[in-house]
Amino acid sequence: MRAGPFAAIVAILLAACFVEPPRDNAPPSPGQQEDGTTSIEEFEADLNGAVNLAEDYWAAQFQASRQRFVPLRSVAAYRRAGEVACGQQAIPENNAVYCPAGDFIAYDVDWAVVAFQRIGDAFLYYLLGHEYAHAIQARLGVSHEFTIQFELQADCMAGAYIGDSVRSGGLRLDDGDLEEFRAGLIAVGDDPGQPWFAPESHGTGEQRYESFASGYSDSLGACGL
Ligand SMILES: [Zn+2]
Repeated sequence: MRAGPFAAIVAILLAACFVEPPRDNAPPSPGQQEDGTTSIEEFEADLNGAVNLAEDYWAAQFQASRQRFVPLRSVAAYRRAGEVACGQQAIPENNAVYCPAGDFIAYDVDWAVVAFQRIGDAFLYYLLGHEYAHAIQARLGVSHEFTIQFELQADCMAGAYIGDSVRSGGLRLDDGDLEEFRAGLIAVGDDPGQPWFAPESHGTGEQRYESFASGYSDSLGACGL
């Protein structure tokens, strides 16, 4: 792996790469459901399951293309802004990020539990799948001109990780989970009017869902890797 341009976008990812729960005043989407999970311990157990699934998934993909796979170094929960740093930069509250400098994922656990409760448990797999995809982009030395290209590709790769895991039997989705993904991705889209080329752009909700859905149904071949 070469350091490549990915190393240069640390600050952008830190500033921009996050998944927001729907706004408080948003009406609940059809199919959106509370799953009753409330504790941080349960959340962390579920997240660890998603990490293990992602590790197995990407190890198999790398093996199939005869490349050595190095798993992500760690996944860290934090509760306060600045508690975890990426290089010289403090990671802010209400965020989940992949830090290329330290090769770890960090997430604000209180924020993530609220998102999990509002959006549903399937969305946790999306969140982890998206951040893990950034770790894979770094390993592959993926290069793009614009942030939005990294972000939509990561959404596609998260879709492939989830769809392929369902097809292989490693992950079982419940009724309503696909709707959770759709509602969640629509909710995290950029505000209308944000230019697609802005350094913090991730894509509109429709673009994000479309990218996720193509990875979900057509696997990694849809993701331009
Ligand atoms: Zn991202």
